[in-house]
Amino acid sequence: MLIDNHNRVINYLRLAVTDRCNLRCNYCMPEEGINFAKRDNLFTMDELCSLSSIMVSQGINKIRLTGGEPFVRKDIMVLFRHLASLKALEDISVTTNATLIGPYIDELKSLGIKNINVSLDAINKEAFERITRRNQYDTVYENLIKLISEGFNVRVNCIALEGQNIEEILPLVELTKYYNVSIRFLEEMPFNGGSKSFNTITWDYKKIYNYISEHYSNIERLASESTSTSINYKIKGHKGSFGLIPSFSRTFCGSCNRLRISATGDVITCLYGKPRMNIREILRSDNSEAKINEHILAAIGSRSKTGFEEQQKYDGVFNNSMTSIGG
Ligand code: SAM
Ligand code: SF4
Repeated sequence: MLIDNHNRVINYLRLAVTDRCNLRCNYCMPEEGINFAKRDNLFTMDELCSLSSIMVSQGINKIRLTGGEPFVRKDIMVLFRHLASLKALEDISVTTNATLIGPYIDELKSLGIKNINVSLDAINKEAFERITRRNQYDTVYENLIKLISEGFNVRVNCIALEGQNIEEILPLVELTKYYNVSIRFLEEMPFNGGSKSFNTITWDYKKIYNYISEHYSNIERLASESTSTSINYKIKGHKGSFGLIPSFSRTFCGSCNRLRISATGDVITCLYGKPRMNIREILRSDNSEAKINEHILAAIGSRSKTGFEEQQKYDGVFNNSMTSIGG
């Protein structure tokens, strides 16, 4: 079992499988993209499989694949199949922009993958295409509805962006009337691959809640797991629910059970800090399992208690892009 220096069990790995993406969401990446990693510096599929096995043997029982866009890796199903074969892994999930998932939906279902997060910042086509800088709306919407109808546990992630999609919030909440889906609104974080940084945000989780509650009087709070990053609600009579993720306000740090590994092997113990180490070459060396175990234990043993504490240690942490970190 992995236990950090604050006595928190770390059982959840967010594993980025690539830093590449076929969209250019304007809060995540500059229009021209970022300096993507050289192919040699990305884990191969075999390496991703071995690394997952090592992490599961260390006590990880929940893995979320992320990126970049996980499905730009044409061999991604090899990893899903491998994860599905790991008995001790209780929860396999993926975060995707839903542009490329279509052909894989049936196999994901047959592998028993249930939890799929879809990033969708607008239900209006023009707004969606303006934010993502690509014209993939029809495909995304079709895949989203297919995922819901096929019975996946779908959570839609929408970042509240001043001047870009605030008028999308209520239509997205309205989706919960017709579909059993969870729509989660996230605070924007200054990870956009540029130099944009801010100390406050316009649309924090309280403001988003107040905005929604002005339009719906019958909102009830739902119980959530202690490690959940979202505060969840349901509008009485609706099939689905909605949630708020205080990504920038960081009310959830105290119960953090997460570890991140980037597609190039950076080990990230907190989203608001710099990587602790890189394990790519270690994984490629002899006796790699024992060495990886040792390095992961060292990283877990020196975590900050909260994202605020971590952020203070590092200058310029927000110059990065989410496509390198995995969200
Ligand atoms: N490409 C996939 C997707 O978009 O779902 C997975 C990777 S993406 C980096 C993971 C998550 O990070 C997405 O839900 C995205 O909305 C979120 N994200 C990206 N940039 C962000 C930012 N500046 N602030 C908050 N969340 C961000
Ligand atoms: Fe790509 Fe996801 Fe970043 Fe959008 S948020 S550019 S889909 S990695």
